[in-house]
Amino acid sequence: MLNDCLFCAIMAGEIPSTKVYEDEYVYAFRDINPVAPVHVLVVPKVHIPSALALTEQNSMYVAKCFEAIEKIARAEGLEGGFRVINNCGEDGGQSVMHLHFHLIGGTKLGEKLI
Ligand code: 5GP
Ligand code: ZN
Repeated sequence: MLNDCLFCAIMAGEIPSTKVYEDEYVYAFRDINPVAPVHVLVVPKVHIPSALALTEQNSMYVAKCFEAIEKIARAEGLEGGFRVINNCGEDGGQSVMHLHFHLIGGTKLGEKLI
């Protein structure tokens, strides 16, 4: 597995995934353990371990992820709203150390995050 990284392996096609969107910078696929009717993982195509590894050089991938989120949200019928979550690091509950954004929706979400 490339870098021993699950999401790099998914993007390399070594592990199957249900793709919902792809462009030059971003790959997005359905979470294997969805917490809502729509639960998509939006992942930059370069290995950035977490939000703590962002720099001036790679931060454009965050913008590309959010450009993808806008497209995916419309394609998934989430014009009424949705939630985007980034877990960062051990205390933030991050389990896969490749930067990703959870796009969650398809139901009325509560006002509180936790
Ligand atoms: P994190 O906890 O790092 O923010 O999010 C990792 C997410 O990856 C979890 O929501 C988990 O369900 C999802 N996940 C873990 N392994 C796989 C997998 O093999 N395939 C897919 N599609 N999602 C996965
Ligand atoms: Zn990776």
